[in-house]
Amino acid sequence: MECDDNIQCFPTCGNSWTLSPTAGKINAIAWKRNSPLSIEEVQLEPPKAGEVRIKMTSSAICGSDNHILKGSLPGNFPLIPGHEGAGIVESTGEGVSSVKPGDKVLTLVVPQCRECNSCLAPKGNFCEKQDILPSSGLMLDGTSRFTCKGQEIYQAFRTSTFAEYTVVPEIAVAKIDDAAPMDKVCLLSCGMPAGYGAAVHSAKVTPGSTCVVFGLGGIGSAVVMACKASGASRIIGVDINEEKFPRARVLGVTDCLNPWKLKEPVQQVVVEMTGFGVDFAFEAIGLVETVVYCCLESCHLSYGICQIIGLAPSNSQLSLEALMVVSGRTLKGVCLGGYKTRDCIPQLVTDYLQNKINLDPLITHQLPFDQLHKAFKLYHAGKR
Ligand code: NAD
Ligand code: ZN
Repeated sequence: MECDDNIQCFPTCGNSWTLSPTAGKINAIAWKRNSPLSIEEVQLEPPKAGEVRIKMTSSAICGSDNHILKGSLPGNFPLIPGHEGAGIVESTGEGVSSVKPGDKVLTLVVPQCRECNSCLAPKGNFCEKQDILPSSGLMLDGTSRFTCKGQEIYQAFRTSTFAEYTVVPEIAVAKIDDAAPMDKVCLLSCGMPAGYGAAVHSAKVTPGSTCVVFGLGGIGSAVVMACKASGASRIIGVDINEEKFPRARVLGVTDCLNPWKLKEPVQQVVVEMTGFGVDFAFEAIGLVETVVYCCLESCHLSYGICQIIGLAPSNSQLSLEALMVVSGRTLKGVCLGGYKTRDCIPQLVTDYLQNKINLDPLITHQLPFDQLHKAFKLYHAGKR
């Protein structure tokens, strides 16, 4: 399943869900790996201590949802997928102090507990309480809040936004500006910061630099926007789906390459185009081959930075000649743009409200939640 961008889904049901536990009618469950999503009624428990129950307003589809559904990222099933979401706090568990009912919030795949070694370090953002590597699909106490037909349902990355209501840990909730349009800012829950931050915050693209972006889906497009905003002089965009090229050009890509149509390997073409290789190369697909052979080899031998954003299948191995990096290249990875999520993501929402960053070009379709199947069909078809 090759897929695409940020197709948003909105719950259509306007019921008031104040009962406890909550019975949510529109929830997408994947009963097993690689199976179609099934729309089910579920029971959702109230939030426990340190947890927040959220009425979901908008969600978007990210490449990582596809990975988890097809099993290339480990996850337990049955599962409610979706992690890129915006919603309104419905109730809070004991001890929750950073949000209250009625607050607009984003769900966070990378939490920020503000206590662990990663959170306390000034660099990096990969909080030890994350549930990505590996993904248990359970809350911090080892249980799930969802049941369906008497069965426990796992939560994707401890979020599960393809649901009318969800429960997430407080450390995975970012309170955002009341004025934020939820159908837009849900992209700031994952895709936009993942791509934008990879370039501006982690790799720190410099003015006048040369860049190549492998994969021009939602994440790659956010990388392109960031390279452009950072003043890159040349941005090469690479994708096997040429339908991605028109938007990429509008966002700032100066040269579009389809590797399937080139006579030479794409990395060789990139090196020839730039003389010595690019300053910054970004992998936004999630394939081992593109990381090593395309992305790393496109970088300047002496100082090029190869930034991995795409999530390659779990257990896949990178195999590279040791001398590939000894010349000075950097191979690095980043999650959620390296942003300490609860500190930084609300500011990105404010930046959007102040027209400092744009999200609109990343939105390809807007559909009601009960058309989630159609949304995934469009996604797999690479449509925009
Ligand atoms: P996407 O499916 O929308 O985009 C992937 C793009 O890659 C598509 O345009 C596709 O046509 C293109 N592609 C596929 N194979 C290719 C090839 N061989 N050569 C060139 N292009 C190819 O996915 P997305 O939502 O943009 O996510 C991209 C990757 O980033 C995924 O692996 C996802 O899991 C990962 N991701 C990482 C983070 C992070 O924080 N590190 C966050 C979100 C998503
Ligand atoms: Zn932490």
